[in-house]
Amino acid sequence: MAAETIFSKIIRREIPADIVYQDELVTAFRDISPRAPTHILIIPNVEIATSNDVLPEHEAALGRLFTAAAKIARQEGIAENGYRLIVNCNEHGGQEVYHIHMHLLGGRPLGPILA
Ligand code: IMP
Repeated sequence: MAAETIFSKIIRREIPADIVYQDELVTAFRDISPRAPTHILIIPNVEIATSNDVLPEHEAALGRLFTAAAKIARQEGIAENGYRLIVNCNEHGGQEVYHIHMHLLGGRPLGPILA
C-alpha cells in the first residue's frame, strides 16, 4: 500500500474539503487551487501512489473514476460543452500529491493540451 497523503484524510472526512461525490470506491472534491471554473479531483478510496503502481485489482476503482467523472460533469453542467480529464505521474508529469487522482477541468475552453 502507498504512504498516506492528505487525500486519505479527505476521504475519511478528517479535514475539510468540498466533497461533491463519494461512493464505496471513489471520492471527488473541489481542487483547493482551481485552474478552471470547474476543477474537481476524483480519487480512488484505496491508496495508489502513481499510475506506475496500478494493479489488476485496482481496475474496478479506476474504472469508477470515469463513471464518476461523467456523472459529476453532468452535475456541474459541463458535459455538453466538454471538459478535460488529466492524470499526472511523477516529477516530469507534474505530480504533487502521491495518491493517484484524476483532474476534471471544465467551464471554459481549455485550449490545446500541448501548447
Ligand atoms: P497533481 O499536480 O496532479 O499532483 O495535483 C495535485 C492537486 O491537488 C493540485 O491541483 C492541488 O491544488 C490539489 N490539492 C492539494 N491539496 C489539496 C487539498 O487539501 N484539497 C484540495 N485540493 C488539493
